[in-house]
Amino acid sequence: MANVSRETTGDSHYESAGDFLRRMFGDGNNSVGMQLAQESTQYKNVMKAKFPRPQNTRIIAVANQKGGVGKTTSAVNLAAAYAERKFNVLVLDMDPQGNASTALGIQHSIGSKSIYEVLEGKLPLSETVQTCPQFPTLKVVPSTIDLSGAELEIAGFQNRVDLLKDALNEYLQDNNTPHYDYVIIDCAPSLGLLVLNALQAAREVLIPIQAEYYALEGLGQLLKTIQLVQMNYNSELIISTMLITMYDRRTMLSKDVYDEVQKHYPHTLLKTVIPRGVRVSEAPSHTQTVISYNPRSAGAIAYREAALEIALRGDPHQNVSRETSK
Ligand code: ADP
Ligand code: MG
Repeated sequence: MANVSRETTGDSHYESAGDFLRRMFGDGNNSVGMQLAQESTQYKNVMKAKFPRPQNTRIIAVANQKGGVGKTTSAVNLAAAYAERKFNVLVLDMDPQGNASTALGIQHSIGSKSIYEVLEGKLPLSETVQTCPQFPTLKVVPSTIDLSGAELEIAGFQNRVDLLKDALNEYLQDNNTPHYDYVIIDCAPSLGLLVLNALQAAREVLIPIQAEYYALEGLGQLLKTIQLVQMNYNSELIISTMLITMYDRRTMLSKDVYDEVQKHYPHTLLKTVIPRGVRVSEAPSHTQTVISYNPRSAGAIAYREAALEIALRGDPHQNVSRETSK
């Protein structure tokens, strides 16, 4: 039989528990053992934390014209993190791909009542709202593939930039509508009319930034577009939040991206980063957010922490001086 324990090697001392953990998981801050212990503490802390309720509805567009940077993942998981705390949350899926609808377990096959009919003026928003199966206070207006044609169809409308804003305001102001704490709009990867509609309807923008080499490429264009919207349409719009996604703590690159964004946008960037993790990417194929699919995973913890940080910073419209709120 192989020598698997110290006792049989003839060593004169027994291994301590600490030595055992170090031997199993390795030394240093990046070891698996340290990470597990840290995650367990983070989980307990964030589950215990009090999330302040916003005074007014916070309407947040999650935007970045790049595809695959974590817009949808961030939109649905932040929404789930708030809904888990029993906040009333509405997610508007403004991407024809309907990924947010899928991740939230919402029916969105062709013919479903969706944001498309709302933009076209064929249905009031109230008739398209569905409830996420995992979270009773999380409501969703899905998108279907029909939305891919909407940009061309609405291009000729005189109020083409206001379509979502008008429909959303009508819904939020209706006496039969519950008071929403958060409205989160998942944008398509473009800077077209659909995104303009989202930026016009929102009061805040959240920009997910993937921790990768080309992360900041294109950010200037996005900021310019947002500035144009601020100047021409929606003077209230504020870029309240930047969030680094798919962070890999083992690479210098991830840290470099964080530091670079931090250098330029110190008051907008969240301290919380979202780690890259398989549970996060698996969740949508189970038509769930990672918050419900794997509540204790690093991704679920990080999205709750990001949601908490956003809640604690508060509504930027009520909190004009960012510096003092830090
Ligand atoms: P976008 O909406 O910007 O196009 P997604 O949110 O759909 O981006 O994310 C792109 C892909 O990356 C998806 O397959 C998603 O599951 C995956 N992904 C997003 N965030 C993470 C993460 N933290 N860890 C692992 N995979 C992720
Ligand atoms: Mg998306």
